[in-house]
Amino acid sequence: MTDASPTRPSAAPLIVTTDLKKIYAMGPYKLEALAGVNLAFMPGEFAGLVGPSGSGKTTLLNIVGSLDVPTEGSALVMGRRIETLSHKEAARLRNRHIGFIFQTFNLLPVYSVYENVEFALLLLGDPPAVRRRKVMSALEWVRLADRAKSRPAQLSGGESQRVAIARAVVKRPELVLADEPTANLDAENSHNILDTMEKLNRELGTTFIFATHDAKVIEHLRRRITLVDGRVTADELVAPAAPAPSAEPPIPEARP
Ligand code: ADP
Ligand code: MG
Repeated sequence: MTDASPTRPSAAPLIVTTDLKKIYAMGPYKLEALAGVNLAFMPGEFAGLVGPSGSGKTTLLNIVGSLDVPTEGSALVMGRRIETLSHKEAARLRNRHIGFIFQTFNLLPVYSVYENVEFALLLLGDPPAVRRRKVMSALEWVRLADRAKSRPAQLSGGESQRVAIARAVVKRPELVLADEPTANLDAENSHNILDTMEKLNRELGTTFIFATHDAKVIEHLRRRITLVDGRVTADELVAPAAPAPSAEPPIPEARP
């Protein structure tokens, strides 16, 4: 595992936003969802956009994830300027390099757990045997290998979100964006999926950026960026807690 510490001085930022603005025209009114955001994220961060509902967290996450474009300013994500990408280039960036986790899990109900995770790989051109190995590793990472044949309706909320995490990380993306991932989970499941994501961050070096106003998520973050009315009002590094003795086994088969 290479050193993916966010403070490592030699590493280039994974993401840089410059005077990023998103303005919605509402009839005669203009709503500034992002009012000039300047942020940089280094590889390996475990960071969160925090702030009240309506503060612009989802808007910012969607632009960084190339699901949306800014009205003004720039978002440089892994060397690509989001505002200049064609639809095809944006899709390629997402398919290869970014995993998404949503509040509502977004699993496809008629497909098995295995197939839901495999979907993330179908556009990458791996042969079936390689796909199978990657899917089963990802399900092992989230401790759901024994549920591969289940349908989403047979899973609890916590298990569903763990499938969504497996789907987000199966292609080993540099970046995972998680928008309110615990909003539909109870406290125990929330901590459980946060532990899983911390483990993936530590052991695979995957960068995680959350949008959340959930205190249970916020206490796990190593960097907290507060947004209010589309502006960054605080950006705090949180000293990592002493590593708790983990009851979980290490991630198996963390291939390069
Ligand atoms: P958060 O995720 O922090 O709750 P959002 O990024 O979803 O905030 O929204 C920021 C602001 O932009 C809110 O005032 C919201 O109502 C507004 N907004 C978001 N999407 C749209 C849209 N498609 N059209 C108009 N206004 C929008
Ligand atoms: Mg939101």
